[in-house]
Amino acid sequence: MRKRGVLFFFILVFHFSKAQQYSIVIKGGHLIDPKNSINEVMDIAVTDGKIISVAKNIDTAKAIQIVDAKGMYITPGLIDAHVHVFYGTDPDRKYSNGTLSILPDGFTFRTGVTTVVDAGCSGWRNFPLFKKQVIDNSRTRVLALLNIVGEGMSGEINEQNTNDMDSKMTALMARRYKDYVVGVKVAHFTGNEWTPVDEAVKAGTMANIPVMIDFGDSEPPLSLEELFMKHLRAGDIFTHCFGQLSNREPIVDVNTKKIKPFVPEAQKKGIFFDVGYGQISFAFSQAIPAVKSGFYPNSISTDIHVGSMNNSMKDILNIMSKFMAIGMSLEEVIKTVTWNPAKEIKHEELGNLSVGTIADIAIFSVREGKFGFYDYSGYKIEGKKKLECEMTIKGGKIVYDLNGIAAPMVVKGSR
Ligand SMILES: [Zn+2]
Repeated sequence: MRKRGVLFFFILVFHFSKAQQYSIVIKGGHLIDPKNSINEVMDIAVTDGKIISVAKNIDTAKAIQIVDAKGMYITPGLIDAHVHVFYGTDPDRKYSNGTLSILPDGFTFRTGVTTVVDAGCSGWRNFPLFKKQVIDNSRTRVLALLNIVGEGMSGEINEQNTNDMDSKMTALMARRYKDYVVGVKVAHFTGNEWTPVDEAVKAGTMANIPVMIDFGDSEPPLSLEELFMKHLRAGDIFTHCFGQLSNREPIVDVNTKKIKPFVPEAQKKGIFFDVGYGQISFAFSQAIPAVKSGFYPNSISTDIHVGSMNNSMKDILNIMSKFMAIGMSLEEVIKTVTWNPAKEIKHEELGNLSVGTIADIAIFSVREGKFGFYDYSGYKIEGKKKLECEMTIKGGKIVYDLNGIAAPMVVKGSR
């Protein structure tokens, strides 16, 4: 009996110490977690894929891996709310199972991104193929906005087909795949009707999800004020918000350089303004006067695809650095890629570092120097700070480590 008692004691001790073990402890970094209003030096511990502790001085004695984040910033894993990732091999299918989209893992972890939202590449007709082909084969968390067009972004002719805009089928598919579908997308419509917007809103209402609008290709243009005030609901998203193209109504008056009064009103009503940077959809001539007047985007996103990835956009960190260069603070910028987009897509379990949440974490350095930031029109400004991703942790596992700051390092293959 005595022997058994001793054995039991040791088993108990073993279990107790195991329960106390951390898989990762990140030491000495400056934590920015806008949801929890944290903006100071804090340690963070991860176990079983979850954040288990956020505190001033966490003991590393029982940590399997220790990350030295001194002088760096720790944030929730970034959410890029507008990307195009339905890659396929048929060039004629464009962004929808075509060659204009790109696969997510190649650009996400190296920039601190753990979640992307595909913005309407697929519609209700081909979402299952998108899921099987891309979502199920990516380490990045891929969520989706279903295009109101059943065939998705598969070329200009299909995108104009109002007969293929079916709110019921869209809502049905959204509900069937509710773990992945977070909204409905309208894009590239050149007609003069409100059909795509209204069908999308109908689908969004049926499935209780927001719509994202890429607006302004109609000829003659439809009114932006009418869109915000009469057609969209609180919680809907207006993307490409700092675009300035001849056939689109901009939010900043190009003559007076003042933001149109109905725009902050719409933001107050609950409409989210998303950057959706893209190839030609971001202009400093819009963003600078807007930010200077105190109008900030709700979410910063890339609109990454073959056409935008290597031009002035580059990656989400470059865009965030641009917004810092024109007057937003680091904390404000971090909010637009974490907690704000989490709320936009109604996934409030993401975009924060609360104890108990999934351990999606990004670690950054802020490089100081002279950096050039330009847009597609050639407008160039200089900035003194640039963000660089040091480490990305997805679901409690280190998936990217730029300079080997983890000890021991992860040196085997990442799959
Ligand atoms: Zn886009």
